[in-house]
Amino acid sequence: MAIFDPFKLHPANPYHLDYSGLDRDDVSRKSPRLLGKLLSNPKTKFVPVWRSQNFFSKQGRPLSAMRVLNLKNVSRFIDTAEIIYLGRDRNQEAHLCIDLSQFEPVMLDPLNNFGVFGDLRQADISISGDDGSIMGYARAMCHWHQQNKHCSSCGSNTVSADSGHHRKCKKNYCGTILFPRTDPAVIIAVTFENQILLGRQSDWPKGMLSVLAGFVEPGETPEHAAAREVFEEAGVLTKNIVYQYSQPWPFPASLMLGFTGEAESTDLTVNTDEVEMAAWFTREEIDLFDVGDFHLPNKLSISRRLIDDWLLKGKSHNTAT
Ligand SMILES: [Zn+2]
Repeated sequence: MAIFDPFKLHPANPYHLDYSGLDRDDVSRKSPRLLGKLLSNPKTKFVPVWRSQNFFSKQGRPLSAMRVLNLKNVSRFIDTAEIIYLGRDRNQEAHLCIDLSQFEPVMLDPLNNFGVFGDLRQADISISGDDGSIMGYARAMCHWHQQNKHCSSCGSNTVSADSGHHRKCKKNYCGTILFPRTDPAVIIAVTFENQILLGRQSDWPKGMLSVLAGFVEPGETPEHAAAREVFEEAGVLTKNIVYQYSQPWPFPASLMLGFTGEAESTDLTVNTDEVEMAAWFTREEIDLFDVGDFHLPNKLSISRRLIDDWLLKGKSHNTAT
């Protein structure tokens, strides 16, 4: 029988949030005794989440590494916190996510000795793919549990099952089982010769520009969604849409599918109900962003990866010619 080894999927340098640093161990998590066993094992690693924030090490650059806790560190919380089995790392050590959101900050003061809570979106570019992916996974699972305390069929309370990977309706006559959901979203770098289409939402950090994005609607392919979003937001027709790569984006529950596409022309009709602004920028203009009013998204994001890949393509083209 073949053995699935998730760690063989990893490239030498996993890209930030992309590759799971854990074997999700689907077989073990079905055991109703698993959580009990792990909660009495001093080797179990706990991955804390508090109100959408992850727990980072205080060592090195800010928000550059995950900090896990041990049973002793979290023992006062485990009776009431949501606990989710995440899987085993490459050393076969089990990781449990512990959702501390219900506790007021003062109750978490003792944890300040070990690390600091922070937003994964603001993580340092040096964060490893293992750490980034585990924290994103934990954050997404906590969000899903918080949003699914009630049955979507009958409205009754639900209870966590399969070590935190399902929730079941408490009413036997209903029996609905809820599964964690991921929302597919598309993001596309639309270019026209030496120009790229960038825009911004009004609630983004001041001056940040990025490629356009949106959610896939029911019954729609990602390619269709990408072209539709670009037309809705900027009035641009796109051709030659090509899938590039994906990235979990657990803010709160998306899977980003990254595309490139070519605009039919540079004509723009910006829909300000959808975006604050959208415009074409050359590579030379983007090179000057950091000394001007604009900046690109954090290098952790697939949006930045799409933009950087396009910038790099222009540089290698110039070098080749
Ligand atoms: Zn129900």
